[in-house]
Amino acid sequence: MVNRVREWGFDLLIPCVKLYDGWCDYHSRVGIVRPGWEEFDPLLVLAEEGSDVGLEVHPWSCVFVESLNSEGSALMREHPEARAIKLTAGGPEPQGWACPSHEVVRDYNVAICEEILENYPVQGMHLDYIRNGGFQIPEGCQCEVCRAAFREMTGAELTADAFPGISQAAQNYVPLTRWRAAQVTEVVRRVHEAAAKRGKGVSAAVFSNFPIAYFDQGQDWVTWAHQGIVDYLFPMTYIALPEVVKWWTECYVAMVKGAVPVWPGLCYFQDCLSVETMTEQIASAKQAGADGVVIFEYTGMSEEMAAALRTF
Ligand SMILES: [Zn+2]
Repeated sequence: MVNRVREWGFDLLIPCVKLYDGWCDYHSRVGIVRPGWEEFDPLLVLAEEGSDVGLEVHPWSCVFVESLNSEGSALMREHPEARAIKLTAGGPEPQGWACPSHEVVRDYNVAICEEILENYPVQGMHLDYIRNGGFQIPEGCQCEVCRAAFREMTGAELTADAFPGISQAAQNYVPLTRWRAAQVTEVVRRVHEAAAKRGKGVSAAVFSNFPIAYFDQGQDWVTWAHQGIVDYLFPMTYIALPEVVKWWTECYVAMVKGAVPVWPGLCYFQDCLSVETMTEQIASAKQAGADGVVIFEYTGMSEEMAAALRTF
């Protein structure tokens, strides 16, 4: 597989090693190793084979998503209180996410990345689900930590009613948004520090809709670029229309201003788009100033697609 990907002309491989169900697909000492990998470490084999053929590897961690089932998540098993919560008329509704406002959640995810960067011959880490999640605005997570912080910042209770739009009450949304984004950004910064001191890099899959991603889910990725705490940005540009790929890429390039390379992520599962559409999308991204593209995912690749890629 590694040889084939290199022959297809790819520079970087992004294997998922902590999935959204919380399990770890490598020999982790921080998280729980998925059953079946006791005798074989797929990440070690992939990283070594990648190094042999000059293919960079950024293991991919689904950071704050942990699934509702705690079976595979050491974090949720040991710290159920750190699960994101939605308050409903029927009572607290646990979400399939960890809440980034808990220090233990941030520490856990940094530790996952740090052990990978330390123990494997990889060139960086890839961060996905690097945001608040489980629900959209207005109120977001309503766990004890979030509610207490909001009360301290504003003197008000953290409810959806507090944000009816542009109003006096809606001003409470300003400190809340900044505070939520800061929790996520802290993890990016700490992973970047861990990577940089080992001569490695950090890439992140981010939403195409910035700045909605910032106020909706605490994903302040344009600031990450300008603070130099990511080394690549892969905005998830998952749409069939090539012209939208061009417009979105123009937005990314305008906002990032060359601070870091921008590689739009293009969604190309098996048969989901034609090779013609995908090549048109790549041409659109390049025309708009993209430094590369990410193809999501490997199973969508074919020799026909590879032949089309070679024309770029
Ligand atoms: Zn919370």
